[in-house]
Formats: sequence, C-alpha cells, structure tokens
Amino acid sequence: MQLEKLGWNGFFASQARAGVPARVASATRERFLVWTEGGEVEASVSGQMRREGSAWPAVGDWVALRLDVPVIEQVFERKSVLSRKHPGRAMDEQVLATNIDALFIVSGLDRNFNERRIERYLVVARQSGARPVILLNKADLAGQYGVDLGEVVERLHHRCGAPVLALSAETGDGFEGLTDLLAPGETAALIGSSGVGKSTLVNRLLGQERQVTAEVRAGDSRGRHTTTVRSMFIMPSGQLLIDMPGLREVQLWASPNKLDASFEDVREIAEACRFRDCTHSGEPGCEIVAAGLDEDRLENYRKMQRELDYLDRKTDKRLMSEMRDRWKIIHKAMRKKTKDGW
Ligand code: GDP
Repeated sequence: MQLEKLGWNGFFASQARAGVPARVASATRERFLVWTEGGEVEASVSGQMRREGSAWPAVGDWVALRLDVPVIEQVFERKSVLSRKHPGRAMDEQVLATNIDALFIVSGLDRNFNERRIERYLVVARQSGARPVILLNKADLAGQYGVDLGEVVERLHHRCGAPVLALSAETGDGFEGLTDLLAPGETAALIGSSGVGKSTLVNRLLGQERQVTAEVRAGDSRGRHTTTVRSMFIMPSGQLLIDMPGLREVQLWASPNKLDASFEDVREIAEACRFRDCTHSGEPGCEIVAAGLDEDRLENYRKMQRELDYLDRKTDKRLMSEMRDRWKIIHKAMRKKTKDGW
C-alpha cells in the first residue's frame, strides 16, 4: 500500500523521524493497529515515550514504528486535532482523532433537526484545524417535515461559512456531491448527534455493512448507540474515513476566539458595539441586540461564549498550578543539591 493512499503528504515527509512511518487505524488504551507500506501491524508504545510523557497516539496519527518489536517510538506532529473536553475528568482535553482534513457535521432533516447543534459542532471543527462540511442527511424526509431544502442549505451556508450538502444515506441521493468535498487520500471524520444517520452514512460510504445500524426508538426518532470502537477505513473511492460510533456528548474544548469564525454575522455587527467586551446581553450601545438577530442563534452564541470563557479561565488556572508544582520540585532538588554539594 502506497503511503500517499493512507494520507501521507509533504507535511509529514518533512518531519525527519527514525523508523518506519505508519498510520494509526485503531487505538485502545495500550494496543494500536497501524498501517505501514507493508501492511497492518499491531503495536504498543515504547518505554521511552512513556517515560517522556509524549503525546499518546490517537486514531489518524502518523507514527514512527520500530518494526522488529513492534513499538511506536514517536508521534509525528499533527496537522489537525479533533478534541473534546474529557467527559469525566474536570478540565482535561480528550483527543478523539488526528490529521483529519474534513470534519463532516451530520444533521438529520427530520423532526430532530437542530441548527444549534450544528453551530456547536462548527466550533469543534474550527478548533480542530479540519475544514467543516455540513451534511444534511435524511433529505428524503424533508418534504414530510415541511423543510424547504433549498432555503435551509442556502441559509446554513451563508451563516456558517462552510459547504452544505443535502443527501440521503437511505436512498443514496446527493452522494455525488461528496467527491468535490474530499479528495482521494484525504481523511474525514463524522460527528453528529445520535440518530442522525452516521452509521447508515458510513455503511454507504464504505459500500458494505461496517456498522450495526440501530433501530430508531419509537416516538422520538432517535437512534441508539451500538458500538464504542473507533476506527479508520478506506472508501472504495480512495478517501479515508474515521468513524467514532460511540461518541455521545461533545463538550467544547476550544479557545474563545474560535467562536467568531462560526458566527461571522454576529462578529461583524459586534464590531460596532460601544464596548469592546460587550456580551450582547443588554449593555447600552449594543448593536447586536439592535440588529434583531435570530434570538435562538444569539442565545446559543452567548451560551458557548460563557462556556469557552469559563474553560479558558479554568485551564489557565490549572496550567499555572501545574507549572508552580513543577517549579517547586525543581527548586527543592536544587536546594538539596546546594546543601549536599554539587
Ligand atoms: P446514528 O446514531 O447517527 O449512527 O444513526 P443511524 O445510522 O443508526 O440511523 C438512525 C436511524 O435513521 C435508522 O433507523 C436509519 O435507518 C435512519 N436513517 C439514516 N439515514 C436515513 C436517511 O437518509 N433517510 C431516512 N429516512 N432515514 C435514515
């Protein structure tokens, strides 16, 4: 298998690393399935990497492999990192996948259609460094739910500044538009709420039944989760796909400035507000309130702004305290050395 077909490009080639280049196709805590030019290998992480506390390999990573053992000795610098706030631990980042070119934000055009969710995932995409692509699935149901497809596509495209494609994983309509959005050798990942049709989409993209599709629960048109494995696949048309089927909630892990790229309209108007740090919640001279923007959209913006500001403050505090602890150890060691003589 040529490395280029696995996503290898100049960005990675320019990083000199000893060992065989390989891409992580699936990752559990300790075991990694990696793809090399020579085929698939199961590997663990070298002792040195553990001691140094280097970045732990994630699905999508390019790694330097020592083949005879086989162990991963280094992780290449990442082109993009898809993260969320760790669902358990207080203020930690959890890396979901790396080196993604496009993040497909999937939404279903049924009664659960939720533009606020799309806005949230847009912030996640923009933080990751991958380009966001909005996929409006279940286009076959749009008429039934009174959705004007053309209008929704146009509106989202204008507001979100990302390509929008309406398709149906069930019927296969609209998929021809996808090839313009992802070239062979590029990598995409799918993100979206439960029940929007991600597994059905993956099945169609891969041309076979990779996922067990959950039946929609009666009454609420929401699907259930069936698996928790994360993995990478190659589509018959040559693009790579990272599937994260067990992903439930995605709490934001982003810097506050990533919000504005997904709310261009808000940002533009906000420049005229009287106060630079205007929160658009009723301050005098607020242009946003005067502009009469969609109230739900604005409230979502404010909510995420508060969330990201909080995250920013907390992570900053945590980093400061970690740094203080590290210096304490260094100072103690130095004092001991001075006392004992060097
Ligand atoms: P996931 O939770 O996002 O992986 O969603 P699933 O792929 O399990 O799909 C949830 C439900 O939506 C299933 O009953 C699918 O058959 C259905 N579904 C998925 N895509 C489409 C579509 O394009 N049109 C229609 N009508 N139903 C779909």
